[in-house]
Amino acid sequence: MSERFPTVGVIGAGQLARMMVGPAAALGVKLRLFAHSASDSAAQICEHVVGDYKDLEALKNFAQGCDVITFEHELIPLSVIKGLESSGVRVYPPSTAFIFSQDKAAMREKLSNYPAPHWKVISSTSEVDQYPMIAKSISGGYDGRGVWKVNSQDELAEILKTTPQLLIEELVAFDCEIAVMVARSPHGQATSWSPTETVQEDGICTLTITPATSIDSDIAEKAQQLALDIAQEVGVVGVMAVEMFVKGKNIYINELAMRPHNSGHWTIDGSTTNQFEQHLRAVLDLPLGDPSMTQAYAVMGNILGGDKTDMYRPYLHLMARNPELKFHQYMKEVRVGRKIGHVTATGSDLLQLTNDVQHARDYMSGAIDE
Ligand code: ADP
Repeated sequence: MSERFPTVGVIGAGQLARMMVGPAAALGVKLRLFAHSASDSAAQICEHVVGDYKDLEALKNFAQGCDVITFEHELIPLSVIKGLESSGVRVYPPSTAFIFSQDKAAMREKLSNYPAPHWKVISSTSEVDQYPMIAKSISGGYDGRGVWKVNSQDELAEILKTTPQLLIEELVAFDCEIAVMVARSPHGQATSWSPTETVQEDGICTLTITPATSIDSDIAEKAQQLALDIAQEVGVVGVMAVEMFVKGKNIYINELAMRPHNSGHWTIDGSTTNQFEQHLRAVLDLPLGDPSMTQAYAVMGNILGGDKTDMYRPYLHLMARNPELKFHQYMKEVRVGRKIGHVTATGSDLLQLTNDVQHARDYMSGAIDE
C-alpha cells in the first residue's frame, strides 16, 4: 500500500461522517473518526476513537495520525479548534472561518454588505419595539431549535429567561427557502451546485428539490454568485451551505453551515461529484470535481422517525414499487421526528419524482401504510 494516500480525521461520527466513508474508500483516502460513542452512525462502519470533542488533549492525540482534521458538526468549541491550530494541526475549515458558522451574530456582522434581514443582538425586551419578529440563540441551534417566532413582549421575556442574549431578526415573509452548496479549497478554487429549494415543516427540512423550481434563472445565478463570494469572504475550506430566503426578486442570507449539509444530500445520486467527495477533495487541496447535475431534477426526502422501528422491511414494498429510488439509512436509533435516513429520486418528470419520494418517505416513517 502506498504511504502517499492521506488520512483525514473527522470530528463527529453521525450520518454526515457516514456518508463520507464511501467516497473516501473510492479515493483511497483513509478516514478516522472522533466519535461520541462506538454506536454512532459512522463509527459502526469506520475506524474511530471515542472521546469528548471538548477535550483538547484527546483531540491533539487523535490528530497525530491524521494529515488534516475536519468536522461534521458545529458544536466543537472554537477554543478547541484554535488550540489544535496553535499546536500545528491542519484544521479545515479554519477557526477564522468556522466562527461564522457557529456564531450567528458574528456571521451577520461579517456579512453586513450582503443582503440580510434587519437584525440586532439584544438582552432586554426594552430593545425591541416591533412584533412579530424572529429571535435566535446566537450559537448551538439546529433543525429549528433555538429559533422562535416571537409575537409579543411577554413571549420575548419568557425566552430571555433561558437565553439571556438573542439575535433578533426582521420576520421575512419569504416565497421560498433555498440553499446553495459551495466548495472551496485552500488554493481558493471554488465550485457550487445548482440552488436547492428546501421545504421545511416545523423547522425541519422534509424535502429538497434541485434545481430550485420556484425561482427564476436570474435569481438562481445571483444566489450562486452570492454563495461563491461569501465562501471567499469568510475563507471557508471544505463544503458550505449558504441558506437563503427568496422574496420576489430579493435574496436574504439566512445562515451558513460549514460542513456537508442536508440540502446537499441529493448530490450523492444527482451530481457528477457529491458533496462528501468534494469536501474530501477540498480539505486535501485536490482539484475540485464537476458539480453538474446528472439528470434534470433531483428530489430528496428526509425520513423522520415515527412509529415504525423496522426500516428494512419497507424496502420490499418500496423497491418493487419504484425501482429508481435510492435509499440511504443512517442506522440511528429511531426516535420520533429524528432524521434517520433519506430517499432520493432523479429524472426528468418532477411531479412523478416528488410523488415517489414523498410516498417512500411517508411509508418508511409509518405515516402511510400502502
Ligand atoms: P437552524 O440553526 O435551526 O437551521 P435557522 O436560522 O436556519 O436555524 O432558522 C430555522 C428556520 O426558521 C428557517 O429555515 C426559516 O424557516 C425560519 N426563519 C429563520 N430566520 C427567519 C427570518 N428572519 N424570517 C422568517 N423566517 C425565518
